[in-house]
Amino acid sequence: MTRVAIIGGGISGLSAAYALQKQRITGANIEYMLYESSPHFGGVLQTEIVHKCLIEAGPDSFLTEKSWAADLGRELGLGDQLITSNDAHRKTYIVKDGRLVPIPNGLMFMAPTRMMPTLFSPLFSWSTKVTMAREWFASPQSTTTSDESVAAFVERHYGREMLDQLVAPLLAGVYGGDASQMSMRAVLPRFVEMEKKHGSLGRGITRERTPASSGQASKPLFTSLKGGMQQLTVALMKTLQPESLRINTPVQALQPQGSKWLVSAGYESDQVDAVIIATPAYVAAKLLHIADIELAAELAAIPYNSSITVALAFDDKVRASLPLGFGFLVPKNEPVGILAATFVHNKFPNRAPENVALIRCFLGGSKADDYMQLDDIGIIDIVRRDLHRVLGITADPLFTSIYRWNRAMAQYNVGHLDRLAKIETLCQKLPGLALAGNAYTGIGVPDCIRSGMNAAAELFKI
Ligand SMILES: Cc1cc2nc3c(=O)[nH]c(=O)nc-3n(C[C@H](O)[C@H](O)[C@H](O)COP(=O)(O)OP(=O)(O)OC[C@H]3O[C@@H](n4cnc5c(N)ncnc54)[C@H](O)[C@@H]3O)c2cc1C
Repeated sequence: MTRVAIIGGGISGLSAAYALQKQRITGANIEYMLYESSPHFGGVLQTEIVHKCLIEAGPDSFLTEKSWAADLGRELGLGDQLITSNDAHRKTYIVKDGRLVPIPNGLMFMAPTRMMPTLFSPLFSWSTKVTMAREWFASPQSTTTSDESVAAFVERHYGREMLDQLVAPLLAGVYGGDASQMSMRAVLPRFVEMEKKHGSLGRGITRERTPASSGQASKPLFTSLKGGMQQLTVALMKTLQPESLRINTPVQALQPQGSKWLVSAGYESDQVDAVIIATPAYVAAKLLHIADIELAAELAAIPYNSSITVALAFDDKVRASLPLGFGFLVPKNEPVGILAATFVHNKFPNRAPENVALIRCFLGGSKADDYMQLDDIGIIDIVRRDLHRVLGITADPLFTSIYRWNRAMAQYNVGHLDRLAKIETLCQKLPGLALAGNAYTGIGVPDCIRSGMNAAAELFKI
């Protein structure tokens, strides 16, 4: 019998447990225990229904092109529950001088694949438009070997305005992070490859589109579940053995004992053959301090940001006044506190009754720690002030819901991939240890599912 402790019951830990459970079903002699410090499993995946509105406290969806999450959903019998974003309304706005300006069609993140919409967009000045046109003729770069920040990379290609107006707000909306710190290789590796091969990013994207892919209708960008993201974690838990699940049980210490590990949680200790740590990296660092101080230091050095999501519901008059589209992003130079807002009622079907506008706002980034100190009234004040500035909303909300996420979002800063290589080497010296979670090779839900499953596979070479 091989006994495994999984520490952390977010989507990463649940996915690891699921992979082990599947092995058990096929006859493997494995026993697992899933330890979760909080009163519930799922980590940041939490869905609530408030006055007939479906509210996501954490992630609201996942990227359709990363298939691991939808594949898992189908495997769990949720195939008919998967829904895609309303891409007929797939327009995202940038706040510019207090007004909403749509991101021009044909822009793939930062690279224009069609010049005309960008040429006529008020989002960029003429000098940026000229830089974009010139970039089209850039030659392949084979010399760059070291990592650089996303900001440096974008500036080299399209200049400062593209960075400030578009790329920085996009990344802040996804990671709550700072483009001048984030690693280009870890966050946007596809563009690094494209630069090497083609020079110009716009030309690269256009060339790499196969005739088939450019002809076919593109898939909706995001996928979610009818009942919300929590459906996924609830379905996962149903597959696991109830006696293996331990909530309200924070693991306090881990100690290697020969070829085994001693797991201490509360007043109890348990000797196991293998451990999967699926907590944030800074928790993993504390747990591994005794086992390997160097590994602990590398894990502790992965930074995390905090964020707050605020859902606000408004009446039908507000709904009628809002533009079509998924929502807006806010560049740093605007006097607005929120990083982004989603028009939830537009993005996915059946998220709110027809006569309700459901808006979800994100607070975070460099001021996240200050926002985390505010009480609910302070947070709602900031968000309502911003919605007034940007959307002209003066009406009182029908209700509001606030969710604070303390240090939940790992940041892949310059040097992240070198750090990962070191972590991997150090982990190899500790047999029976595997790491999973959003600190390593992807922060999105599909990446975390993959990381949990890979951790289980690594231990048993499944
Ligand atoms: C606000 C927000 C919005 C997001 N939006 C999206 C999105 O739209 N799409 C997308 O793909 N991704 C999104 N993400 C990212 C994605 O949701 C996360 O990266 C992912 O869910 C992390 O899962 P995890 O299991 O690795 O970590 P977590 O969910 O953080 O789970 C870790 C678990 O470990 C537990 N734990 C900690 N210490 C201990 C201990 N000592 N012992 C036992 N248990 C412990 C914690 O309580 C927690 O439950 C979002 C994240 C946030 C915060």
